[in-house]
Amino acid sequence: MKGMNSFHVAFLPGDGIGPEVTAAARELLETTGSLHGFRLRSTEHPVGWDAVTRTGSPLPTNTLSACRQADAVFLGAVGDPAADAAPPEQRPETGLLALRSALGCQINLRPFRSLEPLMDASPLRPERIRGTDLLIVRELGGGLYYGEPRTLDPPGGSHRKGVNTLVYSEEEIRRVAHAAFKLASERRGHLVSVDKANVLETSRLWREVVTDVAWEYSRVRHEDMLVDRAAMELVLRPAAFDVILTSNLFGDILSDEVAGVAGTLGLLPSASLGIGTPLFEPVHGSAPDIAGQGIANPIGAILSAALLLRHGLDQSDAATNLEEAVEQVLARGFRTPDIATEKHTVLDTQAFTRQVVDQLIPTGELLPPDSTKPEKHA
Ligand code: NAD
Repeated sequence: MKGMNSFHVAFLPGDGIGPEVTAAARELLETTGSLHGFRLRSTEHPVGWDAVTRTGSPLPTNTLSACRQADAVFLGAVGDPAADAAPPEQRPETGLLALRSALGCQINLRPFRSLEPLMDASPLRPERIRGTDLLIVRELGGGLYYGEPRTLDPPGGSHRKGVNTLVYSEEEIRRVAHAAFKLASERRGHLVSVDKANVLETSRLWREVVTDVAWEYSRVRHEDMLVDRAAMELVLRPAAFDVILTSNLFGDILSDEVAGVAGTLGLLPSASLGIGTPLFEPVHGSAPDIAGQGIANPIGAILSAALLLRHGLDQSDAATNLEEAVEQVLARGFRTPDIATEKHTVLDTQAFTRQVVDQLIPTGELLPPDSTKPEKHA
């Protein structure tokens, strides 16, 4: 991909605060492109409940084909309280799982680094969180979220049952383990594989396969940890972790715990990589409680845009610039309400984003972004 100077990014704003944080990510990606000499062709497509209300499907065919054709996909968030009563095929989350699956996204990266200006946002004492720089590598294509059979007895009967199936193949484990060990060898060389091998057969297989893969990465120190202990250690000693390798369900839960340790869900980015177009999205959901107020923290989305630059478009310098710009704006005392205290300047989503744009642009000319009009109906 290196050497190309034009990229197509498909933006899927979704529901709730999704459109608010997607606008921030899009503005920063277009600005970064102009500064780093590449053009961004941005297109916009419905997903989630927004797409259900327009087309009847949470993942319209047109959205999926645009994603398949793009160099990278950016998704805001999906989910709406109105969707609670909808049938499974019309749930926003069904659209998201179908998108991840259709794009072959099997590996989910969820990094977190404690930033000095954000020490006071964490509920932990600074000496516990300082120096934390960890990466959760979550298996995204299998496990409990996709296993069959999955059934729910209809309401009304007695002794109703809900069934989900936890299944992992050796191949699925091996694939994510290789990705995690490779990343660990490029970082500090420590990998904790998290499972529940004292109870679950899938976890016993997980442990065997991970131990086998570990032989190929002699410079990476590997240990296994039960998920309950890992949940505790993440609060007690988050700085002791480097790479955490885990399954779909455990990774989902542990990364929200990391967000809690960080101080807000609004901070964490993610990248979903695999065999098709890579997908980038903040870890948080659609936050219906604050949607439409313009106060969502855009940092998770902006840092997801940085991951898009690094892993999706091979533009590492641009990614680092963007990450540094966020840190500098925080160091200057600007905050969205979720992490502000009385000593900070409180900004809304747009004003915070503007600060990051201004921080990025030193001087000089910007290339106009090459964007198409948002696609209103798909
Ligand atoms: P949530 O992440 O939407 O919100 C949890 C809490 O964190 C809320 O109080 C919210 O206001 C706050 N929060 C989240 N993001 C924030 C941000 N950027 N800035 C400031 N505060 C922020 O989780 P939830 O309330 O459990 O779920 C709401 C909906 O989102 C549900 O429909 C759920 O299924 C969906 N969801 C979607 C995704 C996704 O799209 N990837 C992920 C998780 C949940």
